[in-house]
Amino acid sequence: MTQIKFSVSIVHLYPDLLNIYGDLGNIITLVNRAKWRGIEVEVKNIKALDRMPSDFADIYFIGGGQDGQQIAASKELLKNKNFLMDAANDNAVFLGICGGYQLLGAYYQPFDADRLSGIGLLDIYTVAGKKRFIGNVTGIFPKTETVPPALNNEFRSFNMENKTVVGFENHSGLTYLKGETKPFLKVLKGNGNNGVDKTEGARLKNVFGTYLHGSILPKNPVFADYLLSLALKRKYKCEIPLESLDDSIENNAHEYSKKLKY
Ligand code: GLN
Repeated sequence: MTQIKFSVSIVHLYPDLLNIYGDLGNIITLVNRAKWRGIEVEVKNIKALDRMPSDFADIYFIGGGQDGQQIAASKELLKNKNFLMDAANDNAVFLGICGGYQLLGAYYQPFDADRLSGIGLLDIYTVAGKKRFIGNVTGIFPKTETVPPALNNEFRSFNMENKTVVGFENHSGLTYLKGETKPFLKVLKGNGNNGVDKTEGARLKNVFGTYLHGSILPKNPVFADYLLSLALKRKYKCEIPLESLDDSIENNAHEYSKKLKY
């Protein structure tokens, strides 16, 4: 019987502008965790002024960056706003980190510059705060009852409930969630979105945003596999089981990070 060869396409949005604190490690993790399972992976880097591929990718990634790079990235993203909104509505997976996360929302208002429009995939807005949040963060996936019903199964089948996620935050932006957009994590250690409401990141459909650098995916293999499984489920219209890997190194890094002081 011929073995189906699964594949995943990834578009890395503006790595020339938003790739600070090693966020490229997230692409490397997705590529390797797919390849280790025999899944073919194609990564396209879309730089400033590049044309966006006309087909929806399975996964879009955008990293973090300082306010200056965000200005240029905002202009590029807005050129492709409708296309990227269509991709999100088609349940393509998005992962935005920090500055990239902020631009997946309505806007980012820097301290001393004009407001930067986002592309509105997440119902969030961000305003620069006076204090910079810098430190190690631990959060926990929301209980399934807070996950929109349609997504409960994914969480349950993936046993995401109460899994911890670790990473490093470095931002002055204060982000607030609105409407149907749910928190990505509940903060156990650190500040997260705004240091007040104990939320970290955001999720709407398959669009995820988070402040966690690190990069986030190497030390959180469950979340990395969850993103791959969402992308494969959308593409092949069924749950594609991912064979388990020896994640002893990844899990040791995860547990070590949990013990770090903020
Ligand atoms: N400039 C944004 C902030 O400081 C994002 C920074 C980042 O991407 N680390 O909030």
